[in-house]
Amino acid sequence: MARVYVLYTGGTIGCVTNPEGALAPVPGAEFERLALSVPGLSGHGVQGYDGLNWTMGWFDRTLDSSNMKPADWVAIARRLLSVYDEYDGFVVLHGTDSMAYSASALSFLLPGLSKPVVFSGSQVPLSFTLSDAPANLVGAIVVAGTLPVPEVCVYFDTKLLRGNRSSKVDANRFAGFDSPNFPPLATVGSVVARNEPYWLPMPDKGVSLAEPDNRSRRLAVLDAQVAALEAFSVVMLWLYPGIRASTVSAMLTGTSPAVKGAVLLAFGEGNGPTDPDFLDALSAAVKAGVVLMDNTQVQRGAVLPGAYATGLGAVGAVGAYDMTPEASYAKLVCLLAGGLDAAAVKAAMPVPQAGELTVIEG
Ligand code: ASP
Repeated sequence: MARVYVLYTGGTIGCVTNPEGALAPVPGAEFERLALSVPGLSGHGVQGYDGLNWTMGWFDRTLDSSNMKPADWVAIARRLLSVYDEYDGFVVLHGTDSMAYSASALSFLLPGLSKPVVFSGSQVPLSFTLSDAPANLVGAIVVAGTLPVPEVCVYFDTKLLRGNRSSKVDANRFAGFDSPNFPPLATVGSVVARNEPYWLPMPDKGVSLAEPDNRSRRLAVLDAQVAALEAFSVVMLWLYPGIRASTVSAMLTGTSPAVKGAVLLAFGEGNGPTDPDFLDALSAAVKAGVVLMDNTQVQRGAVLPGAYATGLGAVGAVGAYDMTPEASYAKLVCLLAGGLDAAAVKAAMPVPQAGELTVIEG
């Protein structure tokens, strides 16, 4: 029926308690043995799903996702492309801490996906008794092998979410993820309820990764992107009452490598202080070639940059609409790594590439 490739990168799902009493992820071969002991997953099959098989791969270095860097996103994308033809769906097992960033990035690094890429992990290790890991692992494999959803998703606690719309919303509970501005793509219970009208469409042949030529071109792009990553920084700046212009300047200008993009986590609908020194610090950054994104620190709803006199559009910040900060950051990094100049990045940021934002007219 279907073959699913599971890429284990580390994270809590694969953790055991080390001699110092802290959680650290085990190497891939050890994690595969653990996964094979999960009821329903023995022998690389999935009990109750005839013909559904899974294979596991991993990197030599397993990571807590707090240590993930953009180069790791590219490594995940390259690995998935290298086995793309052999499988019908993909699961990426990943720490929850930065999963929303990686899932967002993969949606920008792999345009033209024709098969599901499902990120999952857990809040409690698979090796622990009271854990959400078995249900998430089995659910992610079943979803990747049975739902023809052509996009990067996050599967967590019965919900399949669009990856670049997802955020970690709880540090402890099993319901750790949500996509506050977008409905789930499917919900798993005694039946799998598909929300198909919200799925991205299958890609055209000209861009589809099902075509070997498109995959080779994409691999070349990824190689160039990973080389470019060292040459710039993108920062995230949470605004707060009393923020000083000197703090903003220190963060946005005069560092090495140069800051080329900044996600401003602004107030409400995208507002910030109108203190002239603060605004001058932002303007100076824009003049120095930094692309400023006007995101909101509020979890639900959209930025409306022109709504208030305190809106940051006046200094040239780009309204992010309802894009998550994680997706904004990942999109900036991917566009800048693609070699676009500031004007081109500024133009591309508010245009949806992989269903990551809703353009609000007016
Ligand atoms: N620190 C872990 C990680 O992100 C947390 C988790 O996976 O839940 O790798």
